[in-house]
Amino acid sequence: MVTRANAASDKTLSSWIDIPENSDFSIHNIPFGVFRTSLTGPCCCSRIGDYIVDLRVLAEHDYFKAANISAGIFDKGHLNEFIALGKVKTNKIRERLIELFSIENHELQDNRSIHASALHKHEMVNMVLPIRIGDYTDFYSSKEHATNVGAMFRDPNNALLPNWKHLPVAYHGRASSIVVSGTPLNRPHGQFKKNKDDTVPTFGPTQALDYELELALVVGKNSTLGEAIPIEKSDEYIFGFLLFNDWSARDIQSWEYVPLGPFLSKNFMSSVSPWIVTAEALAPFKTKGPVQDVQLLPYLQCSGDSLLNYDIELEVDLRVSGEQAECICRTNFKYMYWNVCQQIAHHTINGCNVSVGDLMASGTISGPTRDSVGSLLELTRNGQEPLVLKNGSVRKFLEDGDTVIMKGFASKDGVRVGFGEVTGNVIGN
Ligand code: MN
Repeated sequence: MVTRANAASDKTLSSWIDIPENSDFSIHNIPFGVFRTSLTGPCCCSRIGDYIVDLRVLAEHDYFKAANISAGIFDKGHLNEFIALGKVKTNKIRERLIELFSIENHELQDNRSIHASALHKHEMVNMVLPIRIGDYTDFYSSKEHATNVGAMFRDPNNALLPNWKHLPVAYHGRASSIVVSGTPLNRPHGQFKKNKDDTVPTFGPTQALDYELELALVVGKNSTLGEAIPIEKSDEYIFGFLLFNDWSARDIQSWEYVPLGPFLSKNFMSSVSPWIVTAEALAPFKTKGPVQDVQLLPYLQCSGDSLLNYDIELEVDLRVSGEQAECICRTNFKYMYWNVCQQIAHHTINGCNVSVGDLMASGTISGPTRDSVGSLLELTRNGQEPLVLKNGSVRKFLEDGDTVIMKGFASKDGVRVGFGEVTGNVIGN
C-alpha cells in the first residue's frame, strides 16, 4: 500500500468515480456510516459521490490487508468496534479508500467484478443509525442562541446568566431516543400551561414543537473514570461529527425546566444524519472562534490563535406538506462561542469518563442575524412574530405534515466536504 500522508488535503485529487459537482461526498470526505438493503443485514460503509461503499466486501477481498483489519469488524450494525480501533487504524482505512478511489489507482478501478458487490447506488440502500450511542450530552454553546433565549424568557438586559461565559453549559440528554435521519416524529404529549396566566397545567399534544440545528461530535476513544482530559489532548477523543436535530417542545420545556433543566421537552426524539464526517476530513476547515472576553480558568484556556472552531455552512429548510422546501435559516458552525475542545475538557474535569460512541451535541447554532438563528423559537420570537413562507403558509411552530431538513458542508479552494442531510417529518397523533 502506498501511503499518502496528506491525501485528504491534496487538492489535486480526483476520482475514477463520477462525482456530481457540489457533491458533499467528494474524495476528500470519505465519511463512515452503516447501511442495509432488503437482502442484507446492516454493514459498515463509506460513501463517494452517489455510491455507498461496502467496507466488508473490500476487506474480504484484501483491499485493507496492509491495515491488518479483518472483514468481521465491518459486519456489524454499528461503527463502535471500528472506531474503537483508534485513529491510527481508522485513518489508515480512510486514507486507503482515498487511494483506491483516486483516478491514478487501478486496483479497484479495474476489478469490475467487485464493483457490483462493493458499490451500491445510494438510493438502493437504507442508512441506519451509525453508532450505538452510550451517553449523550447537549451543550448550549452559541452565545447568540443563549442571548436570544435569555432575552425572551428572562431579561433582555441580562440575557446571559453569570456562569455562561465561564463554563460551557450543558445537560445530560437521552441516548435511547436518538434516531437516524428520515424517522418520522410523533408529536409528543405532555404537561404545559395553555395560557401564560394559567396556574395549573393542561395535558395534550405540544402546541410549540420546534427543531434545534446542531452538530454533534462522536467520541472516538474511551477515557478513564477519575481522569480529566486536558484541553490540548481533547482532539484525540473526537472521531467525527454528525448533523443533529434536537427536536424540542417549548411549552413543555418552559413549564418543566425549573429547577433542574430540560427533561420530557427534549427526550422524546433527536435525529442525526447517517454519515459521520471524520475530524480529519474537516481539519482543513478549522478556523478561529469568537473572542472569549473573560479570564477563563486554566483548564479551559486555549491560545487565541488556535484554530479550534470549524467553518461549516449550515442550512435549515422547511417543507410544508405538498409544497416545495424553503430555506428558513443559513448559519455557520464557526460562530460557536465554546469550541469542542473546551466542551470535552469541561465535561471531564470532574473525572467523568467518556466512551466510544458517546455524542456531545453543540447546542443550537445561531448566528448574529435573524435569518441565521437555528430554532423557530428564535425565528418567530416564541410565536410572537410568525414566519410567513413564500407559499403563504404561516408558522409559529411546527405543524403536522411539516418536514425539517438540515444540511451542512465545508468548502474551500474548490474542495467540498459535507454531511448530506438530517430530515424528519412531523406526524400528528
Ligand atoms: Mn439542544
